[in-house]
This record gives sequence, C-alpha cells and structure tokens, in this order.
Amino acid sequence: MPPTNTAERLAEYEQRYRELAAELATIGLIQSGSVTRRYTRCGTPGCKCHADPPQPHGPYYQWTAKINGKTVTRRLTEREAELYQEWIANDRRLRRLIQQMRQVAAKAAELRLKQAASP
Ligand SMILES: [Zn+2]
Repeated sequence: MPPTNTAERLAEYEQRYRELAAELATIGLIQSGSVTRRYTRCGTPGCKCHADPPQPHGPYYQWTAKINGKTVTRRLTEREAELYQEWIANDRRLRRLIQQMRQVAAKAAELRLKQAASP
C-alpha cells in the first residue's frame, strides 16, 4: 500500500474520531439504572383496585440502579421519571459514542503503527 494512501486513510479516521469526540461534548447529564412504571393493588376489600374491571393504584415511578455494588431505589414523580429517562438515554448515547470512538481509534492506531514501521 502506498504511504500516501495510508496517510489519507489515517486522516479520515482522525477526522471521524474528532467528530465523535465533539459529539461527546453535546451530551447532557447522564444517569445509570432504569425507571419502572408500576400499578399496584392494595389489601383493602372493596377498593376500586379490586373492582371489575380493576382500577389499580398508580402509576408509581421508581428508579433503580446499582451503585458500588448496592441496588439503590428511589420513588419518583412523573416529572422526575421523565428527567431520569432522559438522563438514562444520554448515558446510552454516551456509551455508544465511546464504543464508536474505540473502533475508529483501533483502525487509526493500526495505520499509525504501519507509518511508524515504514522507513
Ligand atoms: Zn386499592
């Protein structure tokens, strides 16, 4: 492979890498874990949650995450649940971006090594 070709490909990967890195900076707050929405039935006989058709209590929102090996849960309002879901989506996007950066970096690194090895 001619050296110019390697240099061009390397420049493309480096450009792509910089674009991904710039995208990283646009990501808002991040949060781990997940949000669940639940409906429940109580123990009170004759309550609407036992009616036919049943009208269960809720929705109740809860955030669950593993922090330092411990499962942490937190009750949320609907608005808080929306925020958490946004942050969790940001976190997924962040991890996807880093994965892409690793792939591009690996290709760029191979070309850099090739350049370094040539006289
Ligand atoms: Zn009930």
